[in-house]
Amino acid sequence: MEKKQFQAESKRLLEMMINSIYTQKEIFLRELISNASDAIDKIYYKALTDANLVFDKDNYYIRITADKQNRTLTIQDTGIGMNHEDLENHLGVIAKSGSLAFKKENEAKDGHNIIGQFGVGFYSAFMVADVVTVVSKALGSDTAYKWESTGAEGYTIEPCEKDSVGTVITLKIKENTEDESYDEFLEEYRLRSIIKKYSDFIRYPIKMDMVTKKLKEGSDNEFEDVQEEQVVNSMVPIWRKNKSELTAEDYEKFYNEKHYGFDKPLKHIHISADGAVVYQAILYIPESVPFDYYSKEFEKGLELYANGVLIMNKCSDLLPDYFSFVKGMVDSESLSLNISREMLQHDRQLKLIAKNIESKIKGQLQSLLKDEREKYEKFYQSFGRQLKFGVYSDYGMHKATLQDLLMFYSSKEKKLVTLDEYVSRMPEDQKYIYYASGESIERIEKLPQTELVTDKGYELLYFTDDIDEFAIKMLMNYKEKEFKSVSSGDLGIEAEENGDKASDDKNDHQALFDYMKDQLSGKVSKVRISKRLKTHPVCLTTEGDVTIEMEKILNAMPN
Ligand code: ADP
Ligand code: MG
Repeated sequence: MEKKQFQAESKRLLEMMINSIYTQKEIFLRELISNASDAIDKIYYKALTDANLVFDKDNYYIRITADKQNRTLTIQDTGIGMNHEDLENHLGVIAKSGSLAFKKENEAKDGHNIIGQFGVGFYSAFMVADVVTVVSKALGSDTAYKWESTGAEGYTIEPCEKDSVGTVITLKIKENTEDESYDEFLEEYRLRSIIKKYSDFIRYPIKMDMVTKKLKEGSDNEFEDVQEEQVVNSMVPIWRKNKSELTAEDYEKFYNEKHYGFDKPLKHIHISADGAVVYQAILYIPESVPFDYYSKEFEKGLELYANGVLIMNKCSDLLPDYFSFVKGMVDSESLSLNISREMLQHDRQLKLIAKNIESKIKGQLQSLLKDEREKYEKFYQSFGRQLKFGVYSDYGMHKATLQDLLMFYSSKEKKLVTLDEYVSRMPEDQKYIYYASGESIERIEKLPQTELVTDKGYELLYFTDDIDEFAIKMLMNYKEKEFKSVSSGDLGIEAEENGDKASDDKNDHQALFDYMKDQLSGKVSKVRISKRLKTHPVCLTTEGDVTIEMEKILNAMPN
């Protein structure tokens, strides 16, 4: 028997990896299952070009067995196996991926399903195991070998007995310590749920013996525990299926199974991108607002899969803040399984996917607005505020993306209208897009300042949301029409109405104005004659860009 040291770099890497790359212990199972699936893929790709090799799907599977008495967990596969050299090269040198080499060799062939490429996944086994034993027989080899390691100390390789081609990895699960329990990795139900979570869409069956309660034979009320082999994973993910095969119920079911929300989604978007970047995605626009949506606790993000294997629950880089309400998942072949959060942020593929997703969401919202107005309004009631925040944020950088999605209550239509609808209805002599801010529609309707505009027959937009006026200030104009608050100094209509009369009277009342200003001292800075009042005797206005409503909000904000 030979005992070998890991290479020096490997030793350090191993320590680092066990302690830092992976944040959750349970992912060791994902890594080992992915390797097993890769190993089966490799036989499959060989069979494509080797006439002597037939790939009969029924013979290929992964089996997980837990043995509580002996504290062992085995992961068995019927894949391509490893010979002495492979064991030495692939398991003895950390960060050297046999799968990446295989992919490169087979570039011409269709080898893109293989998950591994990083060469560290295997070592995650040491997060939960004291001893890892790999017994493997390579395709086309007569001898099987046993590789064994207790972690950083090194490994041994020796010949051993194994009938069939493939690999059996046995983990001696760690004893519990004071602060860590490892027992869960020997519990069948727990293991099953880990497999479901990360590896549900591995293309080969993952088999497990599960104990279930069954009716005793010949009895109709007595149950017994029966051990039964089950296939744990569902294998073909819904997002790889053809849209035409799927019904609205299928998408709803997936939404609920995934716990994206408790409501019914308003709309789903199924993307299968095949261009500059290859990915599949199923996205949802929820119907109702999650309870914590407008709070700091809310975390945006999509589930991220690398080739069918879950790598992140909430990848926030995939969604801009203004579309943070979108739920769903993305699967891409071009991502690596062991990629870290920090690396993801700089991943070019991921950026491309994010850009692509953003434009798909926008397109979907626009068509909802155009074709399913009622649904869009429902959506807007829930998430319109977020779109307006989007317009306001980053100094209005996203206004081009968002301005056509905005809606405001209209004085004329008595319902939500888009800016485009407003502008297209403007009479020729109307210079501005008029708006009025207030707590509620009823309150705004009573504002004296609105009279001049509505009497003129112009449409008025009602801003009842805190953010409205701030967002509009960022937009500045829409289709070259500037926005104008009814409480601003110059409305662009008053002069022609009754301007002359007002200026004539000005001096007559100076004494009264001085008296009023005195009485209201500290509350108003000026009292003057207004040219815009019709049936109301008095109104409040501001000077400059900040209106009364904005001032209220600014004053209420914590400094
Ligand atoms: P990666 O999967 O990113 O290449 P791993 O550390 O997970 O890195 O695995 C290292 C290498 O060991 C793999 O590339 C593969 O060549 C080999 N390997 C691991 N597990 C198996 C297995 N079950 N069957 C055959 N080869 C395996
Ligand atoms: Mg791997």
